Amino acid sequence: MALIVQKYGGTSVGTTDRIKNVARRVAKHKAQGHDIVVVLSAMSGETNRLIGLAKEMQVNPDPRELDVIVSTGEQVTIGLLVMALKDIGIDAISYTGAQVKILTDSAHTKARIQHIDDANMRADLSAGKVVVVAGFQGVDPDGNITTLGRGGSDTTGVALAAALKADECQIYTDVDGVYTTDPRVVPEAKKLTTITFEEMLEMASLGSKVLQIRSVEFAGKYNVKLRVLSSFQEEGEGTLITFEEDSTVEKPVISGIAFNRDEARVNVIGVPDKPGIAYQILGPVADANIDVDMIIQNVGQDGTTDFSFTVPKGELARTIKVLEGVQSHIGGQSVSGDDKICKVSIVGVGMRSHVGVASTMFRTLAEEGINIQMISTSEIKISVVLDEKYLELAVRVLHKAFGLDRTV
Ligand code: ADP
Ligand code: ASP
Ligand code: MG
Repeated sequence: MALIVQKYGGTSVGTTDRIKNVARRVAKHKAQGHDIVVVLSAMSGETNRLIGLAKEMQVNPDPRELDVIVSTGEQVTIGLLVMALKDIGIDAISYTGAQVKILTDSAHTKARIQHIDDANMRADLSAGKVVVVAGFQGVDPDGNITTLGRGGSDTTGVALAAALKADECQIYTDVDGVYTTDPRVVPEAKKLTTITFEEMLEMASLGSKVLQIRSVEFAGKYNVKLRVLSSFQEEGEGTLITFEEDSTVEKPVISGIAFNRDEARVNVIGVPDKPGIAYQILGPVADANIDVDMIIQNVGQDGTTDFSFTVPKGELARTIKVLEGVQSHIGGQSVSGDDKICKVSIVGVGMRSHVGVASTMFRTLAEEGINIQMISTSEIKISVVLDEKYLELAVRVLHKAFGLDRTV
């Protein structure tokens, strides 16, 4: 007998019929003798709908009130699932994040989990109940409802698995595992049987939304056995996130390709090439709480240099405003932005032991006439910023060039 945490995403609970389907699946696992804790997302589209309502009231919705609103999506699905379970004779109970209590910090819309009280859940499991918890939400020390950022139900699932020392955390979604790249963009993408935790962390942070990055961080920190599976297929092992590389199978150099459409590039042209300039530009951006990703500073000529960096698309206007405010102080010639960009990244631990990976990537893009605007590398990934119109083409040709369509 095992303790399993099962998280079902928005599409998997998108209609009442699908929720009944989840109930049947949970019942099947329960009948096998396992203790089950279920974490649910809101019905697909619901969180977007709620954000839309909030924006009809305020262009920039008040963060505390936004959390009050968007957390309701999950409250609906947990109640419905418990009803569906009871209807087929399974005893179950639902909990919101605050009822559990999933204690977070007070950073509304992107709160971090600090502690989980497992007492209620343990008592219910001992009493033979299925415990159904609302994903994506918690409560801060003052009792305010918080949410964990988009895709945050994954993190609720893994965090509960860690707190309960569950045997496995299963993430049920609309694909049957982690693929070499998003199968919606490249139909030839192949499902991976395993992926290392390190690679999954890179894939998630570089834009593969199949798992929220914080859920992968949590799994790593607390050694949670994490698996991604389809909620629409009866059978299948899905993809297991492993802590060690499987040395028995020869893996390709690159495990996957991730991409991100959500960043914009900021250019600060003609700034004085002197010590402290990066700080003078990025300091005010950081003070405004804007996340900066890739950064490029060119070698100076004639005493001036150009400075570019990327920020979330939604923060572009604010970033430019911040920089215009300090422009006279910095002394740059112009500040501009481009939100028609994308970032494409290749990821693989095999890069450590192979040379020529970067040149294969750059040659492949050059052969298609795709211009690279920015490049950044780390030990197991190479990212490039491109014109967004090349996203699909770039991912497809790189997928082929690295032999990922042949992976089994
Ligand atoms: P859920 O609502 O179940 O949380 P998400 O939409 O958040 O589902 O995540 C699943 C989606 O992630 C898939 O439908 C797929 O389009 C996308 N995706 C992106 N990259 C990958 C990848 N490498 N492998 C599998 N799915 C991916
Ligand atoms: N419902 C939330 C969202 O759409 C959380 C989640 O689905 O994981 O982002
Ligand atoms: Mg998700």
